[in-house]
Amino acid sequence: MKKRIVAGNWKMHKTSREAEDLVKEVLEKLDTVDLKKHNNHVVFAPPFVYLQNLGKLLQGMTNISLAAQNCHSEPKGAFTGETAVQMLKDVGCEYVIVGHSERRSYFKESDAFLKQKTDAVLAAGLTPIFCCGEMLNDRKNGTQQSVIREQLEQSLFHLEKAEMQRVVIAYEPVWAIGTGMTASPEQAQEMHAFIRNTIEEVYDHNTAHHLTILYGGSCNAQNAASLFSNADVDGGLIGGASLVADSFVEIIKANSAQ
Ligand code: PEP
Repeated sequence: MKKRIVAGNWKMHKTSREAEDLVKEVLEKLDTVDLKKHNNHVVFAPPFVYLQNLGKLLQGMTNISLAAQNCHSEPKGAFTGETAVQMLKDVGCEYVIVGHSERRSYFKESDAFLKQKTDAVLAAGLTPIFCCGEMLNDRKNGTQQSVIREQLEQSLFHLEKAEMQRVVIAYEPVWAIGTGMTASPEQAQEMHAFIRNTIEEVYDHNTAHHLTILYGGSCNAQNAASLFSNADVDGGLIGGASLVADSFVEIIKANSAQ
């Protein structure tokens, strides 16, 4: 059964105490939700400094995991301020977000660098949540599909089939991230189907149909169900709405109801 995931990307928010309280509150509110029934997973991606503590809190839990928001591509060395994937694994991470649009734009991370990061995450046995997304102008010009194809081609299509089968893709239109301008369910479905068809063309049917493709961009408790009910939308990567237990839990419930 295909994995359905709701991942919360906290970005640079919360104090240590707030981080712990938020995770505990979400877990408490999820008590009655049977995540295993439909292969539903919940992922927390807090700031780096809270990973170790939250890793201990989540240790041994089923279908609830920890993610890092970023990583470096090298296993060790003189890279001041950076963190290697093995270090993330050591503190309990199972996932790493790669290529978030904020990393691409503010930190000038190139497709080539994201390719190396994806390789590093897979080599360490972790799961990359690979983000792709077009700018508003791309959509206005109608070039959104070629932009996405190019991002996938440059950073993922060198992977062997068995590696590709371990990747999670998050489609996050840049114009929808943190803007309140959510993609319509039709826009999301159209792009997710395009991504799946592209993977089928490059790899095969089995790889494409087992691939988890998340939607991200102003997804919230109100619009999650209509986005997640689309055939090719397998959950969400959630920013702002993952910072409040009630809204995050509502989104998780919307995903598990599919
Ligand atoms: C994100 O940053 O990955 C994201 C989807 O943010 P938001 O939900 O706040 O738009």
